[in-house]
Amino acid sequence: MQGVSASRRAESARTMSLPSDTLPSDSLVVRSLRAVWHPCTQMKHHEETPLLPIARGAGAWLYDADGRRYLDGISSWWVNLFGHANPAINAALVDQLATLEHAMLAGCTHEPAVALAERLSARTGGALGHAFFASDGASAVEIALKMSFHFWRNAGRAGKREFVCVRHGYHGETLGALGVTDVALFRDAYGPLLRQAHCVASPDARQAMPGETAADVAARALSDVAALFEQRGASIAAIIVEPLVQCAAGMAMHDPAYLNGLRTLCDRHDVHLIADEIAVGFGRTGSFFAHEQAGIRPDFLCLSKGISGGYLPLSVVLSRGAIHDAFHDDDVARGFLHSHSYTGNPLACRAALATLDLFDEHDVLAANRVRFDALATALDSLAERSDVAHPRRCGGILAFDAVVDDARAAGSFARRYARHALALGALLRPIGRTVYLMPPYVLDEEEIAMLASATIAALDRTLAEQIER
Ligand SMILES: *Cc1c(COP(=O)(O)O)cnc(C)c1O
Repeated sequence: MQGVSASRRAESARTMSLPSDTLPSDSLVVRSLRAVWHPCTQMKHHEETPLLPIARGAGAWLYDADGRRYLDGISSWWVNLFGHANPAINAALVDQLATLEHAMLAGCTHEPAVALAERLSARTGGALGHAFFASDGASAVEIALKMSFHFWRNAGRAGKREFVCVRHGYHGETLGALGVTDVALFRDAYGPLLRQAHCVASPDARQAMPGETAADVAARALSDVAALFEQRGASIAAIIVEPLVQCAAGMAMHDPAYLNGLRTLCDRHDVHLIADEIAVGFGRTGSFFAHEQAGIRPDFLCLSKGISGGYLPLSVVLSRGAIHDAFHDDDVARGFLHSHSYTGNPLACRAALATLDLFDEHDVLAANRVRFDALATALDSLAERSDVAHPRRCGGILAFDAVVDDARAAGSFARRYARHALALGALLRPIGRTVYLMPPYVLDEEEIAMLASATIAALDRTLAEQIER
């Protein structure tokens, strides 16, 4: 058997073109390309763009196998909050490891899950609770959609079974979550498998016409929602939205008035408001939760990514008491029977508790205001450039769009920019022509200056590059 798999491996290594002329065949990168199917990646692109072999992390930095370091300007896909290998979170996890690694959450319970549920609910002023745990953001979205549908069924309104999403919105890659996602690149190949959702106009402030404010754009987008609800409200279960920043759309930002308007329309037409704060929760937008800036509460709140400080997969759906009550019955089938094996994993919950401790012990939001004001100031010069459009910021999320007229150059902008940024010591991954920074909450003055200058230098180098035709 061993002989067979060895010869298969030799064969697949031959048919795949690996950068083996530059790297020894036992290097981590070559082994990875052979053994691992990397996410969100056209694997063939790694023939040109090498993988980055990460050996360790410390603070805002990731270190490669040769000891070179890269500033993690995007918090490792928006998950890290307080730096890599954070001593406080590490200590909490070591303690938890010696106590309880996992126990099932059906029929059993444990302190980390209960304490986390209590503290997250308290963070909503008690308006939301009944924490339903899962592991990934997409699972939290699935849970919120199923709960909303099932709530209306239990309430005798089974006709409410349609969902509404926002143009260019992103809610994850599983089939249900992809059904309410409007990013063509992720969605198109799977179109025939997806349940259709209504898609309403985006409130993206970049759409402002001359003389219009972001609030005007929000009002226009709301009139689209109002028209849909007038027509089909009786069939609609819920609308799902990313409050303040549609991150995967390319950091598309909107006025908080959009969320106020949605709350009013949802109340008027008995439609659930699902806030997907998987990316924008835990301080990213400047407030602890993004929806707070509109002074509203959603009916469902989906959280993940930063929840565990970027340590372990964990997600949660919080909901209003009235929603939980509609499932509370002698009849098993009226209950919410959804589950995942690792639901409420104690290690992940403990990492989340340690993360909340850091928010409680330090005025993180105030410190971040100073930190990200400084980063924005260091990027001030971008606003004057004709090759930069829409410089924008929401709390600790900073973005701008590169102006690239040539279609070929535009198509490869993100990959080329990422390569230049790495050479300058910064891990950045533009979305299309949108360059963004979403760093962890630990940057000091020197790191801020370094990140800003790498951001600008990488832009200069990418735009100056000649594209072969
Ligand atoms: C990342 C993300 C998700 C999906 O989370 P995963 O953990 O990657 O499944 C859902 N919604 C939003 C807004 C996200 O940014």
